[in-house]
Amino acid sequence: MHTQEQYDLIVIGSGAAGMMSAIIAARANKKVLLLEKLSKLGAKLKATGGGRCNLTNTLSNEDFMARFGREGRFMTPALEAFDHKKLRAFFADIGVESHAPDGYRVFPITHNAGTILTALEEEMIRVGVEIRCKQRVEELLFKNECMQGVKTQDSSYLSANVIVATGGMGYPVLGAEGDGYPLAQSVGHKVTELFPAMMPLKVKETWVQHCRADTIAKVELRVDLKKAKKLRATGDLIFTKSGIRGPVVLDFAREVTPLIAKYKEVPLLLNLTKGKNEDELFKYLKKQIDINSHQSTLELLKTLLPEALSIELCKLAGADYTLGFNKLKGQVKADLIKLLAWTPLTVIGHDGFKMAMITRGGVSLKEIHPDTMGSKVLKGLYFCGEVMNLDGPCGGYNLQWSFASGYLAGKSIG
Ligand SMILES: Cc1cc2nc3c(=O)[nH]c(=O)nc-3n(C[C@H](O)[C@H](O)[C@H](O)COP(=O)(O)OP(=O)(O)OC[C@H]3O[C@@H](n4cnc5c(N)ncnc54)[C@H](O)[C@@H]3O)c2cc1C
Repeated sequence: MHTQEQYDLIVIGSGAAGMMSAIIAARANKKVLLLEKLSKLGAKLKATGGGRCNLTNTLSNEDFMARFGREGRFMTPALEAFDHKKLRAFFADIGVESHAPDGYRVFPITHNAGTILTALEEEMIRVGVEIRCKQRVEELLFKNECMQGVKTQDSSYLSANVIVATGGMGYPVLGAEGDGYPLAQSVGHKVTELFPAMMPLKVKETWVQHCRADTIAKVELRVDLKKAKKLRATGDLIFTKSGIRGPVVLDFAREVTPLIAKYKEVPLLLNLTKGKNEDELFKYLKKQIDINSHQSTLELLKTLLPEALSIELCKLAGADYTLGFNKLKGQVKADLIKLLAWTPLTVIGHDGFKMAMITRGGVSLKEIHPDTMGSKVLKGLYFCGEVMNLDGPCGGYNLQWSFASGYLAGKSIG
């Protein structure tokens, strides 16, 4: 074992959080070592936003935190120190201009995550961060309740300050495999239950395979379980070979995965008709029939939904879609309208962390100071980014949190 020189700070992990913390501490003249287990830096950052990197969004801090649920307020000091405006100014300062084409989601103007990564790498080099790849931290070294350094597979590195920025467990091929949790536990931190989140869901109903690639706008999703009636979301949904995906599903998955773990199956109700209820649907269909009384039920439904989905819903209701709507039996018509208002689907699984963009759960926030990101358990230990028990929806939330917490941790040491 080679004993290395003494650093002011060791950062474990070269994600958004780790690189930001390293830069901020090094800008304050701290001697910083960044350790990354992969051969390249920022693998996940490079894959964000489908390669376009949805950096942050334009919400106020209050609205931003509200989207993280009960734990959201923990972010107050980090966001006050580094909100979306400061984040954009930081990147502009290192040569990356950003914009919000829809007024909400912020991207680098290049729409290329590589631009963000390169700028961070160059800034780390400029401010003198020492970078070592292929170094997997396996142990935190501490004595008398103070940090001393870390041990990797072949070396040990000394520092009185260590930032754990190892990410969650989603997309393990991009580096984050949950290493930070046992590291935190090894010094006495608690880690909450962990669930994969932000991913496609598999459903029991096989008819969805016939609607593959149909994108439905403004779908309302509800959990049809007594104890989870309040769980609902609205957004665009896409049917897949074996289930559902799309923005609303990615966001809703974080609510559903704990329920799957508990109940095995989770019944959902989907409004696929932009929020129209049964009465509104009845009136809408009647009006369409008045305009064109000769059209088949399929032609009629196609004014609301894609053809494949219209056919499947007719089949479910037992309706002959070649007939005019008024030629259908009363009960069949009622069943069809009910299905249009609330289509049932049963979630039966998912691909686990392999396809999860986010981890729900993490190092418990109770033992971390929100003002510094410092550990309440061990002096000199800090956390930032997804390794902590905070996860947000799609739309730049998770990167903003990673950058802001990285900024605060780096600043606390600096
Ligand atoms: C495909 C995909 C797309 C996404 N798109 C967006 C988006 O557009 N906008 C958004 O806000 N969020 C997005 N997210 C979520 C976002 O990328 C993460 O929340 C964020 O990158 C987490 O940053 P982090 O620095 O905490 O962790 P990570 O980026 O996961 O970085 C952790 C780093 O630590 C390293 N590491 C782990 N263990 C060790 C160890 N023991 N020793 C040394 N190094 C270690 C890993 O190799 C990794 O490089 C996306 C996620 C995925 C998977």
